[in-house]
Amino acid sequence: MYWEPELETMPRQALEALQLKRLKQTLRRAVKSPYYGGLRREGKITPAAIKTVSDVRSLPMTTKEDMRSHFPYGFLCVDRQQTIRLHCSSGTTGNPTVIFHTQHDLQSWANLVARCLFAVGARDTDVFQNICGYGLFTGGLGFQCGGERLGALTVPAGAGNSRRQIKLMQDFGTTVIHTIPSYLTRLHAVFGELGLDPIKDTRLRLLVIGAEPHTEETRQRIQQLFGVKAFNSYGLTEMNGPGVAFECEHQNGMHLWEDAYIAEIVDTDTLDPVPEGEVGELILTTLDRHAMPLVRYRTRDLTRFIPGQCPCGRTHRRIDRVVGRSDDMFIIRGCNVFPMQIEGVLMRIPEVGHDYLISLVTENGVDEIVLDVELRVQGFSDDFAGLEKLARRITHEVRDEILVTPKVRLVEPGALPKPEGKAIRFKDLREGRCLQ
Ligand code: ADP
Ligand code: ZN
Repeated sequence: MYWEPELETMPRQALEALQLKRLKQTLRRAVKSPYYGGLRREGKITPAAIKTVSDVRSLPMTTKEDMRSHFPYGFLCVDRQQTIRLHCSSGTTGNPTVIFHTQHDLQSWANLVARCLFAVGARDTDVFQNICGYGLFTGGLGFQCGGERLGALTVPAGAGNSRRQIKLMQDFGTTVIHTIPSYLTRLHAVFGELGLDPIKDTRLRLLVIGAEPHTEETRQRIQQLFGVKAFNSYGLTEMNGPGVAFECEHQNGMHLWEDAYIAEIVDTDTLDPVPEGEVGELILTTLDRHAMPLVRYRTRDLTRFIPGQCPCGRTHRRIDRVVGRSDDMFIIRGCNVFPMQIEGVLMRIPEVGHDYLISLVTENGVDEIVLDVELRVQGFSDDFAGLEKLARRITHEVRDEILVTPKVRLVEPGALPKPEGKAIRFKDLREGRCLQ
């Protein structure tokens, strides 16, 4: 069952022909903007020279810095009168960037999000509670419009206020939730405080989680806590927001909608394509955006294409779970480490709770990793021998994974800060670094 059978199962050759047609249209639009118009004059973008989809590789890449230095209108290629909404990236890393949308752009985006929701089994009979920030953050309005397009009763619940979220779920019989994964574990704790069980006391039947990196182990935990499947959703403001890539019922990689985007995966240093199936930086070109097309945008997100076909019959290629942004990687004592490697280890240990914080500090001139790890069960802290054993186990398992021995501090459940938006899992407090 597909939302748009013809597009979703289009044979690769036809899909590529569609991409080529849309790429040419996109470039003709893009060069009307001051930024890409400048590149055309310099001979770096020549729409007529594009003969195949892979000719996209001859075009210059666009970075977040390019967007910031041409803020706010340098990438706009229609009259301002035609734009009807803007979104900004939340600025997890630095200043925001802005994206403008026309009527067409918002419709196209809503349709992609509806396609995603349909792919995981959501239908117009569902009550879809969207638990994330509305306003400039794209997860709010993006899923709102997608849910409405699907025809589901879409509840614009917004972020935070867990008791109210639970009441909404009960009052309206919520069947589908979208939120960030780090919030679900907190929501589950509030169910407990109220003496409720999300499995028995709600009508929930599926979860959509995304917008922040998380491991398979975290997904497994969330599925256990809520007793339903949780599907991974990938997107970024510069590419609209949600609706770029989404898992299907098989939960094995996210179909990246290739009628709307051209995806490349490149080596972060050489910027050459990586061999099939290897990890690199995802580069995306919009194919269906009018106000602000972006050409070869460097997402900085690291992932790989999953080789082979998906049993669901969709022909759009799948990307693997995003391991993080290229700038999430830190180097300590000569070892390259991704926070997600540490999360993977922690979430496999049952006594470990759902929240943790990785801090890099300098002690007596030596750089150290300090891991604050929440315990899963309150009261466990009386058993000192047990705690020590657990801390040792975490230390060893993390060291085996990243080759650096961390200092592990166990903390009570709920002791770590809980921001309303994306979780903060990493701080670099080393001497000579700016605070993150
Ligand atoms: P900001 O860049 O300020 O965080 P966005 O809301 O646009 O603002 O965030 C998009 C980024 O969030 C992506 O580039 C990616 O790093 C991360 N992200 C989004 N969805 C996922 C996901 N499913 N898994 C991992 N990371 C994700
Ligand atoms: Zn599939």
